[in-house]
Amino acid sequence: MSATHEVTNQVPPLVGHDPIAGDVALAEACVRHADAAALDSLAGLGRLAGSEQAQEWGRLANENPPRLRTHDRYGHRIDEIEFHPAWHELMRTAVENGLAGAPWAAGDDPHAHVRRAVGYVGWSQVEMGHGCPVTMTYAAVPALRRTPALAGRYEPGLTAREYQFGLAEPTGKRGLIAGMGMTEKQGGSDVRANTTRAVPQPDGSYLLTGHKWFTSAPMSDLFLVLAQLEEGVSCFVVPRVLPDGSRNVFHVQRLKDKLGDRSNASSEVEFDGTTGWLVGEPGRGVPAIIEMVNMTRLDCVLGSAGTVRAALTQAIHHARHRRAFGALLVDQPLMQNVLADLAVESEAATALGIRLAAAVDAGEAAFLRLAGAAAKFWVCKRTPGVVAEAMEVLGGNGYVEDSGLPRLYRQAPLNSIWEGSGNVIALDVLRAMGRSSDTLAAVSAEIELARGADARFDDAVKRLHAELGDADGLPFRARRIAGLLALCLQGSLLLRHAPEAVADAFCATRLGGDQGTVLGTMPAGTAVTSIVERAAITPV
Ligand SMILES: Cc1cc2nc3c(=O)[nH]c(=O)nc-3n(C[C@H](O)[C@H](O)[C@H](O)COP(=O)(O)OP(=O)(O)OC[C@H]3O[C@@H](n4cnc5c(N)ncnc54)[C@H](O)[C@@H]3O)c2cc1C
Repeated sequence: MSATHEVTNQVPPLVGHDPIAGDVALAEACVRHADAAALDSLAGLGRLAGSEQAQEWGRLANENPPRLRTHDRYGHRIDEIEFHPAWHELMRTAVENGLAGAPWAAGDDPHAHVRRAVGYVGWSQVEMGHGCPVTMTYAAVPALRRTPALAGRYEPGLTAREYQFGLAEPTGKRGLIAGMGMTEKQGGSDVRANTTRAVPQPDGSYLLTGHKWFTSAPMSDLFLVLAQLEEGVSCFVVPRVLPDGSRNVFHVQRLKDKLGDRSNASSEVEFDGTTGWLVGEPGRGVPAIIEMVNMTRLDCVLGSAGTVRAALTQAIHHARHRRAFGALLVDQPLMQNVLADLAVESEAATALGIRLAAAVDAGEAAFLRLAGAAAKFWVCKRTPGVVAEAMEVLGGNGYVEDSGLPRLYRQAPLNSIWEGSGNVIALDVLRAMGRSSDTLAAVSAEIELARGADARFDDAVKRLHAELGDADGLPFRARRIAGLLALCLQGSLLLRHAPEAVADAFCATRLGGDQGTVLGTMPAGTAVTSIVERAAITPV
């Protein structure tokens, strides 16, 4: 074998780290909003998330995307989805570690949702696609509780810590997965335009006829679906297998060929006399499914915080090992500016996401309604730019699939698009404030906790109140308001809980305007070294 060259200055693989306990900002948020025991209970999951094995599952699940099998060999419709075994390992791990519906059955554990949120941020860094069904299973439970008989039927399976793949009668399964069907061809944001119809049957069930243009995770056991009754849009639970063991009509027409999220199946579905049961009141489908949507929005924030964190982890790791122009990248001032800026963004996203989860534990519905929408707008919207910048830290290697950054980059815009695209969620921030004064009061109270801690923060809060006090042209300004609200919340959290270096950098750049239009433009004097050191995750 001819030796043409020696391989030098290449970065070692990042394995053997713990993206939960090793992430100081995430671990601190866990202890702050829950306790050390919650963090300890995630030790096994954290170590697995940083292992070569889990990273390989993530790669395999994406390189071997799901396949639709509409018919069996004899021509019978089966509408089944085939997954690579790696997908099932990811799902099994998530469900067994309580990241799906388990917190709703956690009895008197006062921190069950924070614990889950911390686990979700850490584990989703392995692979984002399977987070979709995990999230929908988590989110379906509060919506189903609108009809206790249905919750009684399905909740034990949805909250179980067992993953049992395959279509079977749901009450006989050890664990269930849920999905949702709202979006139709003619509109996703405007669900009142749904054309799927439901007809009541003498036995109390309904028959649904129509289509859904996006239904992710079609292999799930049950779905919350919107359809029209005479009273208006209503919410139904549609199981894939009926109580008598026969298959419900659930025609999966095709799987979407998506930019990213490739491990996860997203489908188009036709209903033709499909059996469902009403969730909540007739004509009150939107309030019913909003219970689910609010929780999926929480996970959009957590998933985006995880995406940002995964990209940052790779960027710091690379910069700590790669040399250019005679020095490690991490020691070069301009790279320190970039890395510290990414780290501040990551800590702000994490702090806000875990604070939202604490609101679920505490039953702070008004806070969650408004802060959740604002955070969904801001954190998800920031993610693609942050991931792109982190990718560039790795230079050309970052653009190559093996680095894992391209997968993160393809996934990055998704959380902003689904569950309320940017404009829709910004308008929803206004709606949440308009419907009840409690929401703004709850969020303002949280922001006020840091009043006086920093003049730039105080000015930003004044600007927020000025924006809110001006009733003229509110919809046109909805993005400004949603973004500023989220920034004030992040500022309040960082000023109270983060080290001074992080909070100061956040206030200077995100609130005080001392920043260019790209990342890596923090002002001179920013304590970049300590910010980057705090954010580094060292393999154990
Ligand atoms: C990978 C993937 C998986 C998905 N999985 C599911 C699923 O499982 N179940 C499900 O039901 N749906 C699912 N969706 C659909 C998703 O929720 C919708 O695409 C989304 O809600 C937007 O709806 P739409 O595509 O019809 O866009 P539209 O509603 O047509 O909106 C288009 C654009 O217009 C903007 N807009 C809308 N109204 C206004 C307004 N009043 N003012 C200003 N701007 C406005 C929106 O913000 C958006 O940017 C999925 C989507 C993707 C990409």
